[in-house]
Amino acid sequence: MFAPLADHFFKKTWKEDDIQRYLGNYQGAYLTHAADEQIRALAASGGTTSAMAIAGLEKGRFDGVLVCNTVIKEGKVRSRFSIATTAAEILAARGSKYVESRFLQEALPLIRNFRGRLAVIGLPCDIAGLRRRCDKEPELAGKVVLTITLLCGHNSRVELIDEITARLQRETGQELVNYRFRVGHWRGRLEAVFADGSVISKPTEYFNDYQNLHFFSERKCLACHDHFGYEADISVGDVWLFRLKNDPVKHTGVIIRTHRGDEVFRLAVGCGAVQASELDIRDILNGQARSAPAHYNLSAKAKAAKLFNIQINDTVNQKIPWHAYLNALMTVGNMRLSEKDWGKTIIFRTPRFGLKFYLYLKKALESFK
Ligand SMILES: Cc1cc2nc3c(=O)[nH]c(=O)nc-3n(C[C@H](O)[C@H](O)[C@H](O)COP(=O)(O)OP(=O)(O)OC[C@H]3O[C@@H](n4cnc5c(N)ncnc54)[C@H](O)[C@@H]3O)c2cc1C
Repeated sequence: MFAPLADHFFKKTWKEDDIQRYLGNYQGAYLTHAADEQIRALAASGGTTSAMAIAGLEKGRFDGVLVCNTVIKEGKVRSRFSIATTAAEILAARGSKYVESRFLQEALPLIRNFRGRLAVIGLPCDIAGLRRRCDKEPELAGKVVLTITLLCGHNSRVELIDEITARLQRETGQELVNYRFRVGHWRGRLEAVFADGSVISKPTEYFNDYQNLHFFSERKCLACHDHFGYEADISVGDVWLFRLKNDPVKHTGVIIRTHRGDEVFRLAVGCGAVQASELDIRDILNGQARSAPAHYNLSAKAKAAKLFNIQINDTVNQKIPWHAYLNALMTVGNMRLSEKDWGKTIIFRTPRFGLKFYLYLKKALESFK
């Protein structure tokens, strides 16, 4: 009873040009999940991304899928790209990796050396970078037959996950052997596995409170306005609507942008791998109502960045209301604080209730329209 009311209360009004500006071109939007519960089990959201990739692979639409895995190097969590050619390899890469990666340096050689057609899963900036390469290299363009991007607020530097896992290792005195940033329903839980088989599971806010405050954000993310993956064939993300909070099945929101995206999506739905119902495109925006406009407003971030001697090229020319400016000051300032040794000390010594208070303040600023 309260969930629809909460959705109604927090809903923003999106005009046609808001939709076009924030979301880019699209053909349709869907509320989806992988039909197979086993696929959903360790997925970031509804497991649709993995289920579509498996369906496309098994139905011969492509011969491999570029995925991003978590690897543990000397007890530290890192991301690593690989090309999956089996369903098992796609499943092994489920889940979001909130840690910096080097897409063009690492993934591009893998794509170039692969013999066959590829689906590529990546963040908006990486898919946009790949598109630019494809425009210059016809052979590469011929190889990449599908791109799927994850909606993305921003990504985090290794220092953040290193501090979090160091704390977890101190709790057990054991070496970390596996890590998942997020499993389970709604916001989910992080999960760390140690050499003696012990497992620590904590609410994702243990990591995400820092992340959502843009502490240890990658610098390049400040200059980005693409939350929804404009250049992809398909964009996928969470649907943060209160009416879905108590639904036992977690969902993936899907935006279809191109004909080839539509073909693979329909194939996955047609063979029963993905369950889907149409979604009003405004619900996709309502599910990202705070983060997407703040992400898009490069003008506010560019103005705030000047105070920190950081140059950001403003390509969007948005209005800068006071709340957007204050929010941008927090975003850029927090990123900058994370770059100083004394700043790191302050960040990691701030008690949790202080972080929470600061985060709610930031969220309140993002809630204005
Ligand atoms: C850094 C980051 C920021 C995000 N921000 C948002 C956000 O603000 N709002 C939102 O709605 N959703 C965001 N997402 C996307 C969301 O967390 C889910 O990934 C998405 O909903 C797909 O879920 P799924 O269950 O369908 O995917 P799964 O079936 O779990 O598959 C996920 C796929 O994504 C790939 N992948 C994971 N991490 C990365 C990475 N860092 N780089 C490239 N590929 C990767 C994996 O290889 C895997 O194939 C973000 C994801 C990341 C990694």
